[in-house]
Amino acid sequence: MASRLRRILLTVLALCAAALLILGGWLYWGISHHPEISDYAKLAPPPPPSPPRLRATFLGVSTILFEDGETAILTDGFFTRPNPKELLLGKIAPNPEVVSQSLARAGITKLAAVIVCHSHYDHAMDAPLVALKTGAVVVGSSSTANIARGGDVPEDRIRTPSVGETLTFGKFKVTLLPSRHAPTGFATGEIAAPLRPPARASEYREGGSHAVLVEHGARTLLINASAGFAPGALAGRHAETVFLGVGQLGKQERTYVENYWREVVRAVGAKRVVAIHWDNFALPLDRPLQPIPQLFDDFTATMRFLADRGRAEGVDIRVPLAWQAFDPFSPR
Ligand SMILES: [Zn+2]
Repeated sequence: MASRLRRILLTVLALCAAALLILGGWLYWGISHHPEISDYAKLAPPPPPSPPRLRATFLGVSTILFEDGETAILTDGFFTRPNPKELLLGKIAPNPEVVSQSLARAGITKLAAVIVCHSHYDHAMDAPLVALKTGAVVVGSSSTANIARGGDVPEDRIRTPSVGETLTFGKFKVTLLPSRHAPTGFATGEIAAPLRPPARASEYREGGSHAVLVEHGARTLLINASAGFAPGALAGRHAETVFLGVGQLGKQERTYVENYWREVVRAVGAKRVVAIHWDNFALPLDRPLQPIPQLFDDFTATMRFLADRGRAEGVDIRVPLAWQAFDPFSPR
């Protein structure tokens, strides 16, 4: 009897060990495996014409520089990109050295505005420091305003426009429109008081998400940073080019992805989509960007969907390279 019990126990132990091994292997694969961005090199937008009209430069996640030779504006301005250990174990804060180096590499000395799409750390954390270094105003939600206050941005350089209100910076007209965050459940809610770093990543609460409509003369573009949408919110708006957040879109149900396309890309009649928020933002910006690991996203599935939809509806699909300026309205 005792030896039978021992055999059962040993079998159970062996099964548990095997299960752990398989789980460990799967986790390791999911974290270490990601699609190769070089596979999408042919989708990089062409360089801007000279002399440039409006140039866009992708700087990771949904940080994008727009400049016309007179005025420059930046979405989000996130450069610090804390690593997984810092994120899990401690508090995070803007890294002044990384921010300065990144601004210099992007050729940014002066900005009119830093426009924050929502208040998660991978969008808003560095915005106050970027604003202080470049003379910009910080534009965003009341939660973003509290991040700006916690970063010592003077009150007269914080703007919280109401939804649909247009702000003007040189020839740029910027309007925040309703959007939603991708359904990740991460750090929802508002930031109700000035948030002074260092702080936990989860303290950077979303604070509502916006799509950002940018008009420049007769040209129009839209930035939708997170892969979410407010149904009907973009009806009647027009944008030739959409900078489309695709982070974790590859893990959503087909219906969700189709609704996302309809509510954001088709709703504004876009003829070009530039995929953003596809990069693993736990890696530093001075290394080549890589798509989000397979455990958390499926970039290949997203790109397959975009390519199919683009072909069917005549929308040009692009994946930008970091640090390389392009003309968001260039002919195909
Ligand atoms: Zn977010």
